[in-house]
Amino acid sequence: MPDAATHDRITIISGVVLAPLVYGSLVVPAADAAALGTSLFTLAHIVSGVLFSPDLDIDSAIHRRWGILSWIWRPYMWIIPHRHFWSHSLVIAPLLKLLYFYGVLVGTFLGVSWCLAQLGVVVRDYHIVMTRAIIDGIAGAPREAGLLIGGFVTGSAAHTIADWTSTTGKRWWRRRQR
Ligand SMILES: [Zn+2]
Repeated sequence: MPDAATHDRITIISGVVLAPLVYGSLVVPAADAAALGTSLFTLAHIVSGVLFSPDLDIDSAIHRRWGILSWIWRPYMWIIPHRHFWSHSLVIAPLLKLLYFYGVLVGTFLGVSWCLAQLGVVVRDYHIVMTRAIIDGIAGAPREAGLLIGGFVTGSAAHTIADWTSTTGKRWWRRRQR
């Protein structure tokens, strides 16, 4: 299996290769909109591969990239078996990870609100504010939202395809050695 640095290189190279394809395929009224859409896609692709890597399912260099926030991914690592469909599949795995991250944010907002409420401090329902902002963002700019999600999926898929290729290559090599 490629190490984190190799996966980073694969993420960057695949992002650079995909960018002109995305730019060329976007049917938008102005070049500005195509450039913005491509930038969003590429940014999501790289963030997905580097920070939200499928290898968050194991204690890896990726956890350390989250610094003091690495606890966010501990339950994910405990629940999801390493290199399983739920972390290493082309589409479902990255979408599940986004859902998990959203769940962590909601849980954090609820937890902090509850703690503050015990101290007599009442704050807004920030989990609802965030959820509404996400829904409004998707409804207001569906193409940009689609490109962000698309880039997030391809960033993860590039990792998974590299893992599959490496495993298949190793198997083939071992068979040749026999
Ligand atoms: Zn992996």
